[in-house]
Amino acid sequence: MSVPEQFDVIVVGGGPAGSTAATLIADQGHRVVLVDKQRFPRYQIGESLLPATVHGVCRLLGVEEEVRAAGFTVKRGGSFRWGTSPEPWNFLFALSPELSGPTSYAYQVDRMTFDHLLLKNAARHGVDVREESAALAAVTDGERVTGVRYTAPGGEERELAARWVVDASGNGSRLHAAAGGRRQYSEFFQNLAVFGYFEGGGRLPAPDDGNILCAAFDEGWLWYIPLSDTLTSVGAVLNRDQAARISADREATLMESIQRCAIVRDMLAGAVRVTEGTYGEIRVRKDYSYSTTRFWAPGIALVGDAACFIDPVFSTGVHLATYGGLLAARSVNSVLAGELAEERAFGEFEARYRREYAVFYEFLAAFYDMQQHEDSYFWKARKVTNMQAGDMEAFTTLVAGAYSAEAALVRPDTLAERFSASSADLAGAVERTGAARTPSGERMTELFRAPVVVDVMTEMNQIQRRGVGGAITEPPLVEGGLVPSPDGRRWVEPEAAPASG
Ligand code: FAD
Repeated sequence: MSVPEQFDVIVVGGGPAGSTAATLIADQGHRVVLVDKQRFPRYQIGESLLPATVHGVCRLLGVEEEVRAAGFTVKRGGSFRWGTSPEPWNFLFALSPELSGPTSYAYQVDRMTFDHLLLKNAARHGVDVREESAALAAVTDGERVTGVRYTAPGGEERELAARWVVDASGNGSRLHAAAGGRRQYSEFFQNLAVFGYFEGGGRLPAPDDGNILCAAFDEGWLWYIPLSDTLTSVGAVLNRDQAARISADREATLMESIQRCAIVRDMLAGAVRVTEGTYGEIRVRKDYSYSTTRFWAPGIALVGDAACFIDPVFSTGVHLATYGGLLAARSVNSVLAGELAEERAFGEFEARYRREYAVFYEFLAAFYDMQQHEDSYFWKARKVTNMQAGDMEAFTTLVAGAYSAEAALVRPDTLAERFSASSADLAGAVERTGAARTPSGERMTELFRAPVVVDVMTEMNQIQRRGVGGAITEPPLVEGGLVPSPDGRRWVEPEAAPASG
């Protein structure tokens, strides 16, 4: 093999996590190469975004205007047929006080377009983007990851060397074990998703017509995502014991699920399933939630689905991917600039990332717990009471990783209590709001006042405020932790951060 090409940073994977990390590192003048095994535009699921990605990270990447100009469906929030109310209810991003105003929306995106846009933007920012280049393995020198072996488009094997490798190669990552950890799967969120696309489906009444609709039925739940005026992404999330049925006939499983869910069935009356082109295929994905026990080791950091994944009901995947990319970029930039020791910089990366994952996990478990269909196996198996036996252990181990890395993030001894309290908060808020609903269902204020939801939103708001307003000063998120530099691209010690509002 020839002499390895030398870079400052190698990013593996050109999805939202990889493009984000690569761009923000290249912006600091570092030499960054990004390899992706596919040629873009390439298909990916995960079409419903959150405002923190659209207005926060995209603004930091310098791509917000281009995303706006792409004409994606504007998503003002989510609509749910969930819990005991037979009517759908909504949450609107505008209900969060910090988000209300011009940035209180996100987009429903065709991921082929969105991801390609982010990748081309990375190239414009100086990243050496190499498509059809599949990473084979990490190269190590003792305990340290020092490079990556990959197959170039012509089929020849090559080697890249760098001071840091960012693994953003998604759920099928071949590199994540190089960080020294292993994937821990949640027993609670172990679902299979079967999904396809429809032309001519109905829309919720305006102004909720761009919302994602999530509708529970006895055997699981369906998503309904308006991608354009006429194209809709529809997926059924089912228990893993449906695997044989799905592999016997994907289309029949999807169509039968739709028939079992009145609100989606009615919206698709008169619609036609797309049967040609990229959207013509019915796809299946295991959407088991997992987190890797180590997010970094000397020379390598994991971001996006390579690090962790969580159930899609709240559309958090791309947010966690772009957030992880931002956190990793800050750590790499601080270390390469010689400003912080690796332990300090990547301890902050892992602590913040785990915290965000843990809060979503808690929020989602509480949300699943609200669905009252005790007679259905899907819902019964996902009651928090059942979960506390096995899954709480996994959850505690997860957050215990954060505990050891960065002071007291979440105290495991208080978890069980917090868990049931969160579930009750949410259920109560939704029930109360259900009674007070306006016709357009906008009074989901109480849901957003639930403490666990406030927790989730706070960090996202910070990212967004930073994107929109530029330099802001934040307190450390964890005791003894670091804060972002005024431009949001590195970490600094809190006492070194300039005081500003
Ligand atoms: P990816 O987008 O998967 O990108 C990884 C890239 O790495 C790919 O381009 C791939 O080609 C490349 N790669 C892989 N292996 C190699 C290799 N060996 N060498 C080089 N390159 C490689 N998220 C949301 O935000 N909203 C949703 O509505 C949503 N719905 C979902 C529904 C389902 C059923 C599932 C399963 C997930 C959903 N998600 C959703 C999650 C979302 O799909 C992911 O979290 C997101 O795509 C992760 O981005 P990423 O950049 O980490 O990885």
